[in-house]
Amino acid sequence: MKITFPHMGNVYFAAKALFDDLGVEYVIPPLTSKGSLEIGSLHSGEEICLPFKIMIGNYMQAIEQGADTVLITGSCGPCRFGEYCELQMNLLNNLGHNLDFIVIDSPGDIGVKELIRRLGKISTGSEYNRLQKFKALLNAVKVVNLIDEVEAKARYLAGFEANRGQCKKILIECKQEAIKCNSGKSMIEILNHYLDKLNQVPIDQRKEPIKIAIIGEIYTVIEPFSNLYIEDKLMDYGISTKRMLTPSWWLKNLVLSPMNMNQLDIKKKSKEYLPMMIGGHARECIGEAVLAYEEGFDGAIQIFPMGCMPEIVSKAILPKISKDKDFPIMTLVVDEMTGEAGYVTRIEAFVDLLERRKDNVLSRC
Ligand code: SF4
Repeated sequence: MKITFPHMGNVYFAAKALFDDLGVEYVIPPLTSKGSLEIGSLHSGEEICLPFKIMIGNYMQAIEQGADTVLITGSCGPCRFGEYCELQMNLLNNLGHNLDFIVIDSPGDIGVKELIRRLGKISTGSEYNRLQKFKALLNAVKVVNLIDEVEAKARYLAGFEANRGQCKKILIECKQEAIKCNSGKSMIEILNHYLDKLNQVPIDQRKEPIKIAIIGEIYTVIEPFSNLYIEDKLMDYGISTKRMLTPSWWLKNLVLSPMNMNQLDIKKKSKEYLPMMIGGHARECIGEAVLAYEEGFDGAIQIFPMGCMPEIVSKAILPKISKDKDFPIMTLVVDEMTGEAGYVTRIEAFVDLLERRKDNVLSRC
């Protein structure tokens, strides 16, 4: 068995740590690029959403390196994601690739026993004992939490750093060093080291940067290629950003959902505008917009793939939140045809608007 998985932000760090510690064979697909999207688009239905196409591109590139098993996460409510696994299996089968799929889903949907069975399947090729396998899993969880923490800190501090570009440099260096590690333990050490480095970044106390929350469809906000590296661009402008949806958030949500203890803040904040789960992460998007306003952010950017059903609903609700709270929210819809120039122009215009609003408020104080 040679496992692969689709890229989704920082997931590949945790996956590498897990597979290294388990001693199982794996393939990390090349980081998502135009090439992966082209391959995926070539084989997928035109109407299917962008994440599906990119994932197919990732699998095809991993198959070239010998992958025969795909590890993916399961459904996120009533939207196409629930069908991804079946559709992708059929598509790859029709292309002559007989891949096995391991789907990690919420214990609330598949039961704890089934979840454990599926997790066990990942380690069938491992020679290690149960305790070692459990430690490998714990290390992978630590890795995903740490890398997300490093990233969140770097992106937020970017607005306050005394030396422009320092946080971005540390973040890039951290990822380059972490991926070279051959065990979960060494990766954890590296990530802690870079977290310390970020804690020592000189801050300019006089700065009052623009703060933007990144909200929207989970895959598009997490996977940087699909959002045309928006967080990197905002970092370059000296803007602080915050994104709630991360792989570590997803994991925490998965663990807490059977007890109905997951995302209590989101449920509370979204209640007035979208009191129920409608699939995907639409409710999260609404709750995040309200939270961002209450936390003093200057605006929010919603990103989702063309045709994403749950996010189209949240897009229709966001103007109401924006009006009620006098809180600017911009929506960016992405697909394989999205041109970078127009995309950047819209981001810059939005940043401009936020800066002018902030200047007006400051001049009145
Ligand atoms: S949330 Fe949207 S983009 Fe994601 S699978 Fe569902 S419909 Fe597609």
